[in-house]
Amino acid sequence: MTKRTFFWVVAVIAVFLLVGNLTPGGNTSKAQQATKQLTFSDLNHMVSDDPQQIKALVFVNGSNEVIVEQNGKPDVTVTVPDQGGKQTLINNAASHNVAMQVKDQSSDSGWQTFLALLINFGPFLILILFFMMMMKGMQGGAGGAVGKIISSGAQQARPDADRKTFADVAGCDEAKQELTEIVDYLREPGLLSFLGGRPPRGVLLVGPPGNGKTLLAKAVAGEANVPFYSISASQFVQMFVGVGAARVRDLFTQATPPCVIFIDELDAVGRQRGSGIGGGHDEREQTLNELLVQIDGFGAKSGIILMAATNRPDVLDPALVRPGRFDRQVLVDQADVNGREAIFRIHMRSKKAAPDVDARELARLTPGFSGAEIEGVCNEAATVAARRIREQIAQMRKDRKSEQEINAATPREITRADFAEGIDRVQMGVARTSRAKSMSRDDMENTSIHELGHALVNTLLKGGDPVTKITIMPRARALGFTQSLPEGDRYNYTRGQLLTRIMMAMGGRAAQEVLLGTVDTGAQNDFKQAYQIAKRMVTEFGMSRLGPIHVSDDSYEPFLGRAMAVGSGTGPELANAIDREIQCIVNGCFEQAKKLIADHKDFMLAANQDLLKSETLLGPEWNALLTKHGIVPSQLDITIDCDGKPACHECGRGDAPEGSEGTR
Ligand code: ADP
Repeated sequence: MTKRTFFWVVAVIAVFLLVGNLTPGGNTSKAQQATKQLTFSDLNHMVSDDPQQIKALVFVNGSNEVIVEQNGKPDVTVTVPDQGGKQTLINNAASHNVAMQVKDQSSDSGWQTFLALLINFGPFLILILFFMMMMKGMQGGAGGAVGKIISSGAQQARPDADRKTFADVAGCDEAKQELTEIVDYLREPGLLSFLGGRPPRGVLLVGPPGNGKTLLAKAVAGEANVPFYSISASQFVQMFVGVGAARVRDLFTQATPPCVIFIDELDAVGRQRGSGIGGGHDEREQTLNELLVQIDGFGAKSGIILMAATNRPDVLDPALVRPGRFDRQVLVDQADVNGREAIFRIHMRSKKAAPDVDARELARLTPGFSGAEIEGVCNEAATVAARRIREQIAQMRKDRKSEQEINAATPREITRADFAEGIDRVQMGVARTSRAKSMSRDDMENTSIHELGHALVNTLLKGGDPVTKITIMPRARALGFTQSLPEGDRYNYTRGQLLTRIMMAMGGRAAQEVLLGTVDTGAQNDFKQAYQIAKRMVTEFGMSRLGPIHVSDDSYEPFLGRAMAVGSGTGPELANAIDREIQCIVNGCFEQAKKLIADHKDFMLAANQDLLKSETLLGPEWNALLTKHGIVPSQLDITIDCDGKPACHECGRGDAPEGSEGTR
């Protein structure tokens, strides 16, 4: 029973007893009613007229009370008026053969008195006790109401429980190397101080979500074998001003060195002060101030390492990242193919994978996947395998196969196909087989042509990656999808490659328009993707006729208050020119895609029949189809026509936008 439940049970019992005592039907009056039911003269009549009803009369020594024990009825107590009356009753009982006993009052009177006191005053005592405990809690005792509010809520993981080490993290070797110094310091904090060095204060882990920032911080604590306190910065920020600051104080008081304190999503509390509509946010700023004070203060407590994670280091307050505070930034970026392979190996350690499952192959199939997504793939694969094995066994039992045959035919392991399904699930959600069955032939055909449009355009162009899968099996996030994967990891994209991706995105709608004459809602995501790439080409990568310009995107702007006051810095003329360029790129790609589809009409119609029949075409099947129709992949250069003016030359480098598949 928790403390809180105990309190309430006690309170309810107390109130119940109290009400029982105070109401007219309570204990006291019940005794009175019993006495009233049988007066002394009633008792004398009973003895004379109905002696069989009385089992015994018990005279209490030293008292004028007689307890009447009745046959089949509860005992009653009768008060005898005087000594003469008592003698009359004794004579009466003796003449009617009623049994009589004498009981010593001292034998239970103390107990009865205590019980009576307890019944009468117990509830008051319990209530007083209850309120005293409540008050103690309110004043900040552990577990009290106010105490709970200002308690930081940080979770402490002892190094021995759920211990992580660097062996549990992969794909970020540089980050691990940088953090080794911190581990050395935590193992022997005194040495650095002895040598006169300043201990490191704050380490900021920077990178996209799911790439192992929290895991790395845990691993630092695990390697050094010290406690790990973790809290999310959003837990600090509360409705009441001042609570966040109190929680920060509580966190730093709670932590005893040597230890690691980890603050996740630091940007939730560490954004630049003065940002936001109206110029700021009192509670957050007060919390941030307290955090800064505590970071400065814990210098005295050597042996505490403060670590924090964020994917928006650009929005942090400069005071937070100045030397002496979070002055060390460690990048925890997306893993490359080797890193992904190592992450797969880590998460496959606890899984029963079939011998032919190759971590390298899985890594190649998952470009751009974060560590968390890879962990998700392994879990999904196990779930898929469990279901598959259960269904296979059930079917074989139905077919009256022996247990020996069943065991031989269904090895309890996760196969390559299970992993492939796991990847699709993480990317596109769970397959909706029932929806597939209920889809009309027209809908299936629309989807099929749409997906083949993506695949063909991508295949024909020089900048396209090899197509690995085309499917019209509906999933949670798409009716179908086309996947093309690069041979290795890409860090840079040329203008031609970006245009190919836009054209591939537009290929779905282009094919529907050219071959079916239909326009539906299925291309919405493709347009969004195409527009985003084109916009970044124009405003960030300098890949348009506007030349090398950089215009920040307001939708990324975290400082709305400041942005409104300062403005985006783009004049109306430039804004119009940017819009024209974006439209020119997207529309140019769309027209080009339509032309490519129209030129390969026969191939598209034949491929459509195959896809409708098999639901999924894998890379080798697609390549065989291309060969059969004499189509050689990656031959065409992209030329887009912008308002009759010459198209831009190959130029620029830059980060590529996410996503490499066409979806519907
Ligand atoms: P972040 O803090 O960067 O958002 P997490 O550390 O919370 O990411 O990662 C979530 C989970 O994903 C981890 O518990 C781990 O199982 C898995 N994971 C993420 N990155 C890695 C990695 N580099 N190596 C192994 N597992 C990883």
